[in-house]
Amino acid sequence: MQVITRDFFLYLSKNKALNRAAQNWGGNIAAGKIVGGLDFPSSIKFIKELNEEGLSVTVDHLGEFVTSHEIARERTAECIQTIENIAVQGLDSQVSLKMTSLGLDIDKKLVYENMTRILDIAEKHHIMVTIDMEDEQRCQKILDIFKDFKQRYTYISTVLQAYLYRTEDDMKDLNQYNPFLRLVKGAYKESAKVAFPDKADVDENYKKIIKMHLLNGNYTAIATHDDAMIDYTKKLVKEHHIPTTQFEFQMLYGMRTATQKELVKEGYKMRVYVPYGNDWYGYFMRRLAERPSNIAFALKGMTQK
Ligand SMILES: Cc1cc2nc3c(=O)[nH]c(=O)nc-3n(C[C@H](O)[C@H](O)[C@H](O)COP(=O)(O)OP(=O)(O)OC[C@H]3O[C@@H](n4cnc5c(N)ncnc54)[C@H](O)[C@@H]3O)c2cc1C
Repeated sequence: MQVITRDFFLYLSKNKALNRAAQNWGGNIAAGKIVGGLDFPSSIKFIKELNEEGLSVTVDHLGEFVTSHEIARERTAECIQTIENIAVQGLDSQVSLKMTSLGLDIDKKLVYENMTRILDIAEKHHIMVTIDMEDEQRCQKILDIFKDFKQRYTYISTVLQAYLYRTEDDMKDLNQYNPFLRLVKGAYKESAKVAFPDKADVDENYKKIIKMHLLNGNYTAIATHDDAMIDYTKKLVKEHHIPTTQFEFQMLYGMRTATQKELVKEGYKMRVYVPYGNDWYGYFMRRLAERPSNIAFALKGMTQK
């Protein structure tokens, strides 16, 4: 039943007509609950509140299904504006973005142009830009882009997903760059040809890559809401005397807020992923796929702030 629900929401997440309808509808669905706001200025309030509670942030301008050079350039301009705003407002925030939103499905040259413009500004303000990982078909392209830019820029990082068979090898390959990596279990619908079908295997691989990356001496963001993975990390860092400056926990905005604050109290660095923008549909559906009880939570968000 759980698998059917997950597959259903992941299927819906790719529906372009529903995505368009959601954008036209706009509204305040989940805004202030799992999405910061419909634009960056309206998200600043939420980011400041999080910062005041000792939580760091990474913001993501929501946007999928980019189909023209023009939209990809608009997304790039939005990202640059956000980085400038973070610097001017003195926010404790990084930026996350998707290569598809910069034009990955349209033209490689366009992505390189857009990324160069973004990273030039990020480098100037010392603001980390993390390339989110998307579905497996785009994984190699995204890693190639990351590796190219990593040779020229410091403030760039990316994500590896524990559910993919290839991830252990990718981590070995990326090690030469001493990268800052966000490690996640993986959010897309993948076939058993490329990803572990059983959750227990995903969890084991997640532990394995957390250990590998930390013991390689690299900065590691452990992005999960799973207590078992958080406890595993706490034990591991204690055993290997890994300083708290070498890793951080990350969670999504609106999820497990009490745990986020507890981790800060315990002295760990905690970063909250705050998405914003009116293209919230795909993000929202993936969150429902992970945890259908988010439905009730989000429906509440439609009626209250
Ligand atoms: C900051 C961040 C960035 C991410 N970036 C990417 C990315 O770039 N690419 C990508 O593919 N995926 C990304 N993800 C999503 C990720 O891959 C997982 O799909 C998502 O985090 C769900 O897996 P999980 O590890 O949190 O726990 P799950 O395996 O979903 O759940 C394990 C257990 O954790 C607990 N739990 C989970 N969620 C909740 C909740 N909301 N409230 C209470 N308990 C809960 C429950 O006990 C549950 O049984 C990101 C996730 C985070 C947190």
